Amino acid sequence: MKRPFLTLQQAEDIAARYPTPFHIYDERGIRDNARRLYRAFAWNPGFREYFAVKATPTPGILKILKEEGCGVDCSSLTELMMSDRCGFRGEEIMFSSNDTPGEEFALAARLGAIINLDDISHIDTLLSAVGSVPRKICCRFNPGGTFQLGESKEGFQVMDSPGDAKYGMTRSQIAQAYRRLKELGAEEFGIHAFLASNTLSNEYYPALARILFQLAVELKEETGAHITFINLSGGVGVPYRPEQPANDIERIGEGVRRAYEELLVPAGMGDVALCTELGRFMLAPYGHLITRVLHEKHTYKDYIGVDACAANLMRPAMYGAYHHITVLGKEDAPCDHKYDVTGALCENNDKFAVDRMLPEIAVGDLLAIHDTGAHGHAMGYQYNGRLRSAELLLREDGSVRLLRRAETPEDYFATVVWE
Ligand SMILES: *Cc1c(COP(=O)(O)O)cnc(C)c1O
Repeated sequence: MKRPFLTLQQAEDIAARYPTPFHIYDERGIRDNARRLYRAFAWNPGFREYFAVKATPTPGILKILKEEGCGVDCSSLTELMMSDRCGFRGEEIMFSSNDTPGEEFALAARLGAIINLDDISHIDTLLSAVGSVPRKICCRFNPGGTFQLGESKEGFQVMDSPGDAKYGMTRSQIAQAYRRLKELGAEEFGIHAFLASNTLSNEYYPALARILFQLAVELKEETGAHITFINLSGGVGVPYRPEQPANDIERIGEGVRRAYEELLVPAGMGDVALCTELGRFMLAPYGHLITRVLHEKHTYKDYIGVDACAANLMRPAMYGAYHHITVLGKEDAPCDHKYDVTGALCENNDKFAVDRMLPEIAVGDLLAIHDTGAHGHAMGYQYNGRLRSAELLLREDGSVRLLRRAETPEDYFATVVWE
């Protein structure tokens, strides 16, 4: 059963200061989870998590993760600028982008970030933008085909199609890229790959690690490159549905350690540092979208209209994603009413839940929409003139801090050229 990290009373007190809807993050949950990740990989001396900024590009959150020892993984110019302003320096920044404009490589290089090249042609983009290649560099690998794990009666636990994904270099390209980068003066090399998204399996990282460790051994032999780090990227998921089992990060770390000892250590590569670029796993469960019920409508179905909409949380509309909903104060009431929970956009996919069994809801109730800490506020937009909400932090002492104010109509009009 999923329990929200705040009570009705807390939510009402907060709503009296910061009107709904708002996103709120749980500082204790974020810190405890980051510490569990670091403990799971403590066996690897160089280990670092580079938080995927795109999941929650909010400076107040990035600073908490920085205090927990994390770096940042950026994919755009503004994410680089934000990370710089948050105090991330040099190799605390990973730059993993694709279809990359030269100016973004130039800023990444100026900040001393580790650049992760998505395509072999980006060596030339980098050369024209920066004039040289950095001493330490990473290349993104795409093995093609399909990637699957753990077959059961319901199908594969993990199934994705790297062969259809726009990211990364082929096996022969990555060897060629290493040779060329070496000629151009690069001295330290990394490998990166992202094969499956939101995985719920303790076997995903170990399986990916085996592929990358094997590749590292081969590339070292073929190219003579000095491989000093391997980036397992993102993709470790969270259970959005209450019946789904959570990943066990300790077992995941242990599975990766076994692969490391079987493949890298015997090849004389027992000093390779590992890194991760988790986004969802670091933040999703530690955010709620809090929204108030404005309206009930009973036509062919029973609708509950709330003051948030897909502009505040796009995942249900975009992917049909499930987000659990708790009616605050009715945590233990029977779920004996079937509702569609909707926002106000003039789009019929603006529904946070369809045919969801919930306790009886009244106008004025507060709902907590779960697991919105990653890819929640971040994917916000302004369709229908709806404005992005505030982001708040529930601190460990129970106090609340504003991390980002809600947008106002002035923000919405600020970019208009009226004449
Ligand atoms: C999105 C992304 C991540 C984070 O993915 P999660 O599924 O949120 O863990 C990491 N690395 C890269 C390159 C990404 O694009």
